[in-house]
Amino acid sequence: STLVVAMDGPSGTGKSSVSRRLAARLGARYLDTGAMYRVATLRVLRAGVELTDPAAIAETVAALPLSIGTDPSHEVIELDGEDVSQEIRGDAVTKAVSAVSAVAQVREQLVALQREIAAMAGRIVVEGRDIGTVVLTGADAKIYLTASAEARAQRRNAQNIREGRGDDYAAVLADVQRRDTLDSTRTVSPLRPAADAVLVDTSDLTMAQTIEELYRVVAQ
Ligand code: C5P
Repeated sequence: STLVVAMDGPSGTGKSSVSRRLAARLGARYLDTGAMYRVATLRVLRAGVELTDPAAIAETVAALPLSIGTDPSHEVIELDGEDVSQEIRGDAVTKAVSAVSAVAQVREQLVALQREIAAMAGRIVVEGRDIGTVVLTGADAKIYLTASAEARAQRRNAQNIREGRGDDYAAVLADVQRRDTLDSTRTVSPLRPAADAVLVDTSDLTMAQTIEELYRVVAQ
């Protein structure tokens, strides 16, 4: 049977890991919409387009040779056939992605693709910022994951250390706060919970506890 779960919230709540594991447990597909904005951003950076030029950004992204998988246990993210799953998590893309994702045409285009992928899958956990409010307003379950900025920065910093990107909590916290502000105050699809979303604060929850809680919410 079809089951569409919209999973929104700011970065660093454990949203990606939780969404992927929840999807696996539900026997559902998984879509990481943040990865789609990151691929669009990589394209823009490679094209040398100014981040202050929305028209040029829209034009560069208009024909995006993006390939994104929906298997929760196997990530596939390709730009023009090239595996970019690592590069899109790097500093350059992370710094530029807010500017690219604020361009209305970019959002329209990626939202249309997200809806197609969700309809095709039928049973899917879709993760992002505006899934419950814009992309899939009729989702069967809407979850908004939150956590304090400090808890989120701590997790992101720990992930950076694990993945060899260094240890700098202060810089990570500043970046978390900067992106929160950009994402929640932009005019196009600002980050906020849908009226009918279930709020789950993960500051003091382990990954396993969070998944238990979400499974309970979705299974109801
Ligand atoms: O989730 P992730 O950190 O990979 O998302 C990267 C960026 O993409 C976010 O900071 C946000 O600017 C943008 N984004 C968005 N809408 C989504 C998913 C991500 O604007 N549905």
